[in-house]
Amino acid sequence: MRVFYSLLLITWGLLPSEAQAKPKDYLQQCWSQQGQPLATGYLTFRYQETANELEHSQYPWQPTRYDKHGTAWLNAGNFLRQDTLTQDGKTYSSKSQLSPEELLLLDYGDKELLAVTPARFAGYVLTTARYSPVLLLQYFVQHPAAVTRSAEPGLAVYSAPVADARVRLFIRQADGLLDHATVLQPDELFGDVLTTYTYQSYARTGKVRYPTTIGISKLNGRIRDDVRLSAAGIVPGASPVLSRPEGYQMRAVSPSIPPIAVQTYSPHLHFLELKHTDDRVLVVEFNDFLVVAEAPLTSENGEAILAETRRLAPGKPVRYFVAGHYHPHYLGGLRPFVRQGATILCGPGTADYVRTLAGAPRTLRPDSLHLRPRPLQVEEVTSSKTITDGRFEMQIHFIGASSAHTNDYLVYYFPSEKLLFEDDLVWIRREGPPRKASARQAGLYQAVRALNLDVQTVVQSWPVADYGVKTIIPFSDIEQAMQVK
Ligand SMILES: [Zn+2]
Repeated sequence: MRVFYSLLLITWGLLPSEAQAKPKDYLQQCWSQQGQPLATGYLTFRYQETANELEHSQYPWQPTRYDKHGTAWLNAGNFLRQDTLTQDGKTYSSKSQLSPEELLLLDYGDKELLAVTPARFAGYVLTTARYSPVLLLQYFVQHPAAVTRSAEPGLAVYSAPVADARVRLFIRQADGLLDHATVLQPDELFGDVLTTYTYQSYARTGKVRYPTTIGISKLNGRIRDDVRLSAAGIVPGASPVLSRPEGYQMRAVSPSIPPIAVQTYSPHLHFLELKHTDDRVLVVEFNDFLVVAEAPLTSENGEAILAETRRLAPGKPVRYFVAGHYHPHYLGGLRPFVRQGATILCGPGTADYVRTLAGAPRTLRPDSLHLRPRPLQVEEVTSSKTITDGRFEMQIHFIGASSAHTNDYLVYYFPSEKLLFEDDLVWIRREGPPRKASARQAGLYQAVRALNLDVQTVVQSWPVADYGVKTIIPFSDIEQAMQVK
């Protein structure tokens, strides 16, 4: 009993000092293994990566895969990288150079540096996480006041805001190495977007531990990339991969949306020109409602278009919003129309994509639909749909893969004007002799013929000013191009 009592006392005696002890600093332990030993040098390695990007593909979520390889040099404050990408037998290279003072970027195929904004400079630490977590770890170590701590089984979790993102580092309690990091960022099209970087197969060079395999889950888990490192070593210095041109400076942040130019083409058809995106939006005015076709890229643009429709036709609600195809220049601004109660019209197979965009949370950069949600009304036009007030008529025709562009393609026809409005199929130069029709242009021509539409004029949504092409096009030009061999 006496022995037991004294053992108990010893145990109790230990308790207060344990309770007072600071919790283990896993962040510091991680930093001391993965970043701190680079105080006097650079970690360098070669890498191979697959990068899947959502581009202007044939259907939603269809990724385009790129295979790249390159070399990187980095330490706590610097990141240099050069890589090459081979596509269709051609090789392109890109270079990046981040220091505490500046960011220089040269994109694939470019001769001049990209214009970097202050926001891009501040957020570039997040981009480096694709190849190494060292700069992200350094950011956390340097901003202790911003970091909060929690735990998950086997993991110490450190969270902090970094640039416009919320970042969480998950450090393994067993060995103090970074297991994974999550980055939640606002995206203009997809809303809150989560990227997870998983760091695996750690190796050692000198005193530095580094992951040799990095798995990247992007766009809320819809797309996966991976990066594999090899031939790592520590070097005392790194030669610049880019040099700053004379007079180079960061690009100032552009102000908000410039004024929208309104052209009333006929009593029922108005064109809104958005100069900052080079898009033409169509507003169709019926007796007691409106139809808006196309809204580029952002909710902000959608709001600006809606404000313009209120000036154009006070008191007439937007009953339908229609997107000619799923690419961001045509439906990226659809959310404010959902908020206003418009029914969203799209081509077959795109309603699910519209549901994703309309339902995406936007906690980091709220828009009107996030703040005041409203149920989505969406309808796919699978062949033809006529909208009319009994006097004026708009026909929406599904031409799909005939567009040689996307599977969901819609065009709009106005019989009383003999006018067809479409997004981006016709490419006829303003100057010079007619050229052979592209697959897209020929596809449109054949679709118009197959639908038996009497078209005199084609009006295009994008581009409006760029590329030196006609965007209000006599149909005879399109017929003429069909004759060119
Ligand atoms: Zn397109």
